[in-house]
Amino acid sequence: MDFKKVLCGSRRYNFHTHTQFCDGHATMEQMAAAAVEQGFTHIGFTPHSPLAIESPCNMSKSDVPLYLAELRRLERLYVNRCRFYAGMEIDYLSDAWGPHITYFRELPLDFRIGSVHFIPTKDGRTAIDMDGRPERFAQRLREYFDNDLRYVVNTFFSQTRRMILAGGFDIIGHLDKIGHNASAVQPGIENEHWYRRRADEIVDLVISRGITVEINTKAYEQTAPADDPGHPFGAPEGEGRIFPSRRLISRLKAAGVPIIVNSDAHSPERLQSGRDAAFMMLDALPARISAPDAVE
Ligand SMILES: [Zn+2]
Ligand SMILES: [Zn+2]
Repeated sequence: MDFKKVLCGSRRYNFHTHTQFCDGHATMEQMAAAAVEQGFTHIGFTPHSPLAIESPCNMSKSDVPLYLAELRRLERLYVNRCRFYAGMEIDYLSDAWGPHITYFRELPLDFRIGSVHFIPTKDGRTAIDMDGRPERFAQRLREYFDNDLRYVVNTFFSQTRRMILAGGFDIIGHLDKIGHNASAVQPGIENEHWYRRRADEIVDLVISRGITVEINTKAYEQTAPADDPGHPFGAPEGEGRIFPSRRLISRLKAAGVPIIVNSDAHSPERLQSGRDAAFMMLDALPARISAPDAVE
């Protein structure tokens, strides 16, 4: 999907939302009604994809036709007011399960987000969802990974790399989200040389492939300074956190990578959450540095 073409510069969109079909806290109908009321003109629904493993946050394969039918019903209901898109946030687990597999490629979806939430254990037998809140991340790090934070971070980036190389998706979801949880366990980890190198490698790959990147603002409000929640400037990493980090976003923008701003909303009141601040930050960054025109 060519987001630039679809959006034509409009910011009244959100292409990352969760509802009753996965771990969202509202129905698609409630989300759609709220989006229209809030003035959105383009909304993408992105339930967490069916998985080959047991996961309470993901939709089942048997629900996919119901989801698509509900999407078409809402499209008709709000025709000429808001456009709705059938998307999916597809988990990359391995060569055998990710956005690249035939099952997902053949679904009649309008667009696909590719995301890494699960980290395989060292014996490769289990995949653990490490995407939750920092407290749960720390507990799972102890329980399944013997507190080997470096393994988890490195594996997150190598899984992300494999997902990009395998393809099959339009937007890369929250591409350095692991850094947020890892920083809660080990403050400053994102400034360590090895971490920066891993994150930069992913950014290089995204740039070379021209993949659309989302700025994911899901965590912004929880991490912004309470007395000044709208202030995007000068906030150190960890405060008013967005994914990717500001350092990576400035690299992506300078390289001309398509960037969209999504709030990863799990409820209607979060549809716009953090998006204004992210746009302000994005607008303040220098745009693509193009080569000077040749002198005659
Ligand atoms: Zn996600
Ligand atoms: Zn999501």
